[in-house]
Amino acid sequence: MTLRPLVAGNWKMHGLKASAGELQKIIAGAQKLANVDVMVCPPATLLADFAAVARGSRVAIGGQNCHSLPAGAFTGDIAAEMLKDSGAQAVIVGHSERRHYHGETDEAVRAKALAARRAGLLAIVCVGETRAERDAGDARAVVGAQLSGSLPEGAADFVVAYEPVWAIGSGVTPTAQDVADMHGFIRERLRSRYGEAGERIRILYGGSVKPANAKELMAIDNVDGALVGGASLKADEFLPIAAVYG
Ligand code: PEP
Repeated sequence: MTLRPLVAGNWKMHGLKASAGELQKIIAGAQKLANVDVMVCPPATLLADFAAVARGSRVAIGGQNCHSLPAGAFTGDIAAEMLKDSGAQAVIVGHSERRHYHGETDEAVRAKALAARRAGLLAIVCVGETRAERDAGDARAVVGAQLSGSLPEGAADFVVAYEPVWAIGSGVTPTAQDVADMHGFIRERLRSRYGEAGERIRILYGGSVKPANAKELMAIDNVDGALVGGASLKADEFLPIAAVYG
């Protein structure tokens, strides 16, 4: 099944108010890209500004993390409802940097994905194995367990991003065959858990996607777009990746 692809940029902890100029370039370029959903996920400090700039354009704005509860005594945290209120349409949950540096468990990620649903945001749920896990032959087992634990039950209203940890920011990507194998495996799992609706869940690939490798990666079966880190910070690099879809 061909799904409408999504190319989402994860700006991580990069960007100041002056970066709105880069967003404007992305918006201008995305106007010509009718066959792909384009999204930028800036730091929380820029969400409201970016959402205002992007309003009415082809570019959606997303957050990078949320708390599972709608409000409370959680200093420094941000509720999914607050992201929504600031103009976000989506939120990344379970990125490996959150899992690694903030100890987020599958259970916590699942709660965040459910919070996104509650707030009316599209959850982009990240999974992916480390280099050591891949080398030990455990990649499928690790990703399978993350899917079981992190995905929200019920509606198939989210996006999955497969991001091998060792490919993030490293300039190294898995072989096309390895990506095909893992995305096929994820599709199987989605099908068995969500039935026919599992066919319509987009599975993004993430990890060192660049203009030079995007075409090959995006052509792989069950790759329905990309989650892009470093290359999403500059319109000149991000747009050619989205433009793979014409
Ligand atoms: C990411 O952090 O989601 C990511 C894919 O980063 P990069 O594209 O820089 O590897």
